[in-house]
Amino acid sequence: MRPLADFPVAARRRVTRVLADIDDTLTTEGQITAEALAAIERLAAAGIDVVPVTGRPAGWCDHIARMWPVAAVIGENGAFYFRHDRLRRTLARRFYLDAGVRAANRRRLETLGREILAQVPGSALASDQAYRDADLAVDYREDVAQLPRPSVDRIVALMIAAGARAKVSSIHVNGWFGDYDKLVMTRILFRELFAADLDAVKDTVVFVGDSPNDEPMFRFFSLAVGVANVRDFADQLKALPAFVTRARAGAGFAEVAAALLAAKEGRSGAVNRAPARRQPRKPRSGSRARAR
Ligand SMILES: [Mg+2]
Repeated sequence: MRPLADFPVAARRRVTRVLADIDDTLTTEGQITAEALAAIERLAAAGIDVVPVTGRPAGWCDHIARMWPVAAVIGENGAFYFRHDRLRRTLARRFYLDAGVRAANRRRLETLGREILAQVPGSALASDQAYRDADLAVDYREDVAQLPRPSVDRIVALMIAAGARAKVSSIHVNGWFGDYDKLVMTRILFRELFAADLDAVKDTVVFVGDSPNDEPMFRFFSLAVGVANVRDFADQLKALPAFVTRARAGAGFAEVAAALLAAKEGRSGAVNRAPARRQPRKPRSGSRARAR
């Protein structure tokens, strides 16, 4: 991983979209900071679409799509994207699987959840399970006492044995039926919302993340950036992001936004700060962007 300062200015100027993990990338100690939210807002104002990509549930994503200054949100590990059309005031919910298949899958996941809770002492359904549409989240350290590694492995094994996909995040084990993941849904979103082939435009897309469940995105995107806390997982990651920020979590995301916006201002000729153009002010590179 190279320092963010090594991200070439010419490459920064080409960026038109920023994809970002939520937990510990946009959030800091479990909360969204004003600094991170302002960074998203500034990117959007400069014409750079921001799309959070998360394992978090549909219920949360409904809120995020409507109330955050984002172009869309991908949730439940790629089960769907939601997009709020602010002009028409409609929320488009695009699921990978149709409603009938999801309903049948939910019944299978309920059975699987009961089996896991019976076989793995100390595990529990995640507190956000009620707001999930397409996946089962088993808590192993969010609201329960942290389970030992063999218990986590056992949860994964039970999911796989049932024919589900399984993914371990920093707090939950997620399981789902269906051959999708975050990258599969990202491709669909680009095709449908941006009329773009992701492979053809990947040099214009930055992905920002922090942990092992972002690994497929780190591998795919040549312009991937880890927030500084990605170093905590460096020994577990087979694919590292190309760049790493100085600050951790939300402040690290703000650092990425500031770097992109500074390059964009340079391109737009705003270096002489013509007062008639209300360009976002350029934070000093390398310093933490200020929430304004
Ligand atoms: Mg994360």
